[in-house]
Amino acid sequence: MVDFTLTDEQKALREMAHDFAEKEIRPVAWEYDRDGTWPEEILRKAWELGLMNGHTPEEYGGPGLTYLEGAIVEEELSWGCSGIATSIGANGLATAPLGVAGSEELKRKYLGMLTEEYKLASFCLTEPDAGSDVSGMRTTAVRKGDKYVINGSKCFITNGGYADWYTVYAKTDKEAGHRGISCFVVPRDDTVTVDKKEDKMGQRASNTATITFNETEIPADHLIGEENKGFKIAMMTLDRTRPGVAAMATGIARAAFEFATEYSKERVQFGVPIAMHQAIQFMIADMATKVHISRLATWNSAVLLDQGRRNTIESSHAKRFAADAAMEVATDAVQVYGGYGFIKDYPVEKLMRDAKIMQLYEGTSQIQRLVIARETLLPRRIEEPATV
Ligand SMILES: Cc1cc2nc3c(=O)[nH]c(=O)nc-3n(C[C@H](O)[C@H](O)[C@H](O)COP(=O)(O)OP(=O)(O)OC[C@H]3O[C@@H](n4cnc5c(N)ncnc54)[C@H](O)[C@@H]3O)c2cc1C
Repeated sequence: MVDFTLTDEQKALREMAHDFAEKEIRPVAWEYDRDGTWPEEILRKAWELGLMNGHTPEEYGGPGLTYLEGAIVEEELSWGCSGIATSIGANGLATAPLGVAGSEELKRKYLGMLTEEYKLASFCLTEPDAGSDVSGMRTTAVRKGDKYVINGSKCFITNGGYADWYTVYAKTDKEAGHRGISCFVVPRDDTVTVDKKEDKMGQRASNTATITFNETEIPADHLIGEENKGFKIAMMTLDRTRPGVAAMATGIARAAFEFATEYSKERVQFGVPIAMHQAIQFMIADMATKVHISRLATWNSAVLLDQGRRNTIESSHAKRFAADAAMEVATDAVQVYGGYGFIKDYPVEKLMRDAKIMQLYEGTSQIQRLVIARETLLPRRIEEPATV
């Protein structure tokens, strides 16, 4: 049955997330954006309300939200501010590899750590010379007895400066390209250094840092899954997290659409509100369609995961469409505001800057198209179970 009708519980969850975005995030979002400050107080409140670690199963202390419910929450928080929403959601990205392939011991210890008290974790895949093509990564993990020793630098790591532990991808076989990558849980200790906090165009409230591992020793059982299966774990992780990014993009687009709609009814030019001009109406109509289709594609990709089915192409459709749509909608919102849209006293220029990252992180829009082309030209059966 095709049905996106939300249950009463899901509606209440959406209302709770919206309320939080409206009361705790919106009023300060533009201030945090201007100053680029770390929204710790908001993150702590989100943790207390159970808006963080949403997908963590109840047995590890989390609320055990479905992927659809996670997407509903992400859209609302991002409607408030996608930079703050990214900081709230980053634990989900860091913990997803444990959900895909982590041992019971690792899940109990490290998922439990995040739900017992307010703590953060980060996902460390990208390196200065290995972004879209992670096979070129240089970070290594060398097995020494009952330990692995990790060396290397990861860049653009969300919440990296504040994380208590990291999910780290490293080469365990330097000659094997993407087949030589493994995935580890790495607790932060004094061999882990935070080298650089990025000064960003948008999402300025989120922390983005370079993290370096200097002879960092971890127990051998901190390997997630099997050695040299890290690439597959990363791809399966992104299948699970891209619906969340698509939901965030939908939240940005919706915010821009709402601001533009309201402004078009108030701003008078040529003796009538600009909403009376057909050119503006068509921009508003296109925005409405893009928000609507972004949400449908997002929910579709999330529901497949909830049904235990592989959603690779659907999550790329959703992420690609919603990210590009958010950029277009935010740009058009600036257009509706005219010159005022370009001025920082008005809300939409921030949304245009924030929207840009949606086309970049968790696989650029070009990489989504590569995935979609591959899945279209060499289709795999959708019924394939979503396990490693
Ligand atoms: C704010 C922010 C937060 C981030 N958070 C994290 C995080 O928490 N953890 C993490 O691991 N990473 C994170 N990233 C990294 C992000 O995922 C990468 O920036 C992204 O994957 C792109 O890699 P790159 O920047 O090296 O670009 P490149 O891979 O160098 O790409 C440059 C351009 O070339 C295009 N391109 C590359 N290859 C192809 C191809 N085969 N075909 C067509 N076009 C191609 C790209 O689409 C892009 O337009 C973050 C980045 C930012 C900016």
